[in-house]
Amino acid sequence: MSARLVLLGPPGAGKGTQAVRLAESLGVPAISTGDIFRANIKGGTALGLKVQEYTSAGALVPDELTNAMVRDRLAEPDVEGGFLLDGYPRNVAQVAELDDILTSTGRSLDVAVEITADAAAVVDRLLKRAEIEGRADDTESVVRHRLDVYAEQTAPIAGVYASRDLLVQVDGIGAVDEVTQRLLAAIAPYVG
Ligand code: AMP
Repeated sequence: MSARLVLLGPPGAGKGTQAVRLAESLGVPAISTGDIFRANIKGGTALGLKVQEYTSAGALVPDELTNAMVRDRLAEPDVEGGFLLDGYPRNVAQVAELDDILTSTGRSLDVAVEITADAAAVVDRLLKRAEIEGRADDTESVVRHRLDVYAEQTAPIAGVYASRDLLVQVDGIGAVDEVTQRLLAAIAPYVG
């Protein structure tokens, strides 16, 4: 069985939470580019120092840094049986890069899952998360910028996957368990 997935959706749609749940249920690692960047920033690594200015402004980290990091991560042995990418690809160029990473190792993507949520709901969720987690990029102006970046650069990639018949869309509004069940039901035909 293989399960190679990407999870799409606006910031605040519950992607991180659902990624961990889905990955656990599928028995594959959840790979969050945002988490990897945050860990590097916290650890004061060379990569962390380079990306901090972008993440704190809610801008995308340049592709050459992000792509190299993802290429390395997808070469690790634990992705043999599959993976769930959370937060990558984030623009059309990254879609092409992921295609290249996968085809160069004889693999392909099984499904792209988009968690949908309207803008008002996600702003609300992100501002609540800011109070709880204190993420540096959860202030209102940065949140709004991240949503704009999503609309301009990331939302169009759903269309790319739709044209390959690989896109499923799932409503992200509702209780966490309920959304997980919806997601598992939606991806079942594509994985396994
Ligand atoms: P996230 O946790 O997915 O919301 O990501 C937090 C921040 O990390 C984003 O606002 C970007 O600055 C950066 N980031 C995460 N994934 C990517 C990516 N695929 N490409 C560029 N920047 C990214």
